[in-house]
Amino acid sequence: MKIINPATEEIITQIEVDSSATILAKFNAAKKAQKEWASTNLESRMEIIRQFKFILQKDMEELSNLLTEEMGKPISQSRNEIKATLTRIDFFLENVSSVLKEEWVFRDSSQMMEEVLRREPLGIIANISAWNYPYFVGSNVFIPALLCGNAVLYKPSEFTSLTGLAIAKRLHQSGIPERVFIPIIGEGQIGAELNSMPVNGVFFTGSYNTGIKVANEVQKKLLKLQLELGGKDPIYVCDDAAVELAAESTADGAFYNNGQSCCSVERIYVHEKIYDPFVERFLKTVRAFKMGSPKEESTYLGPLTRKSQIVYLQQQIQDAIEKGATLLTGGKPVSDQKGYYFEPTVLTHTNHKMEIMREESFGPVIGIQKVKDDAEAISLMNDSCFGLTAGVYSQNRSRAEKILNQINSGSVYWNCCDRVSPRLPWSGRGHSGLGLTLSKEGILCFTQPKGYHLKTI
Ligand code: NDP
Repeated sequence: MKIINPATEEIITQIEVDSSATILAKFNAAKKAQKEWASTNLESRMEIIRQFKFILQKDMEELSNLLTEEMGKPISQSRNEIKATLTRIDFFLENVSSVLKEEWVFRDSSQMMEEVLRREPLGIIANISAWNYPYFVGSNVFIPALLCGNAVLYKPSEFTSLTGLAIAKRLHQSGIPERVFIPIIGEGQIGAELNSMPVNGVFFTGSYNTGIKVANEVQKKLLKLQLELGGKDPIYVCDDAAVELAAESTADGAFYNNGQSCCSVERIYVHEKIYDPFVERFLKTVRAFKMGSPKEESTYLGPLTRKSQIVYLQQQIQDAIEKGATLLTGGKPVSDQKGYYFEPTVLTHTNHKMEIMREESFGPVIGIQKVKDDAEAISLMNDSCFGLTAGVYSQNRSRAEKILNQINSGSVYWNCCDRVSPRLPWSGRGHSGLGLTLSKEGILCFTQPKGYHLKTI
């Protein structure tokens, strides 16, 4: 498989891909190794993950450069991703012992009866990962899965295969046995082949369309299935919001990582009383974003990772303009240079007949719509199949919380956006997915409970 640098369109390298036969062999190897791994004590598994964190930190520059070369993420943002992954690892290390601790839930001395709840690993996990944040979306799964005693068959996206291999190498260097964490390399079909193995759990991060295919394949096997899918994440800017702060913060939320985040701001509703100053400030912020080589420290917008996204974005923009939207800036790929660069694009006068307000853009494109009051904003925010994140900007916390209480999404924000915390569950509703990662529940989900009914006779 050819690995292309999206900033230059040059081939970085070519790598071997897996086949049905190698996937089966890897599955069998993991099956043999998992039980032994699960029988190691938790402290020794934690020590290995501590070592992995140490190696990530030590190799941060090399790994950031690789990620930037392979997916076009600006170097400062690649570094941010790895740094934040270290914090997530800390969270898992700090909480895994208490989560896995057995619980005496009942003790009746007269009948000599005890009830104990213990947790066992699921077994072998298929971890199928998206490319946009390979460290985040990968480690949300493989760190707690490994800590809980599972073996992991890890398929990075074809667009971040080198990063996937680099992660595997460092996990092995840290002490994870090679048969306990095994990378599976290839395109989408290879992910489908992986899911056809008799694994014990499938943890998938990717688009709704692929997620549905995965669900159709996996659900009939009655496996543990988690789907972390896309979003069409809305923001409402109230008339009492701090306009400059809201405009700058939501512009960053929409365009960071080139809008290629599951929780990117994808649509903005602005109260009519502050609509004009908000749009003016938003546009000023976007025009100041520096686009260029992702290797430059000062670059904020690099190329898109996938060439195919250029046509998709152009279609969304065209559809919006035909239905009455106003294009304030951008709207097309950058034509005078190599690489998959797309101009940051801002559309106003949008409405919900337009794809841009309904379907995930996953690129540097945003629609802004004027609303007359909170009720209209709530109704529009909820008018979506997706339910990943949503936010409100207001100087009045109780007003914001009253609105957020009525929004159907897994995470909600007040005066912030595009934010993930390891301490809170990351979960999508509707087309945004099934299950969750992160938080204590995101450790628990890699285990299965076993209830012990123990009678002394
Ligand atoms: P895709 O759905 O295209 O791919 C996701 C993964 O699935 C990739 O590894 C892909 O391999 C693999 N795959 C493709 N086809 C199949 C198949 N039939 N069976 C099994 N696996 C398959 O998503 P992207 O990688 O493009 O990621 C972007 C999407 O992910 C966006 O919608 C984004 O919102 C979402 N996302 C959600 C997150 C969340 O936490 N909710 C976090 C990050 C992203 P390959 O790439 O090689 O084709």
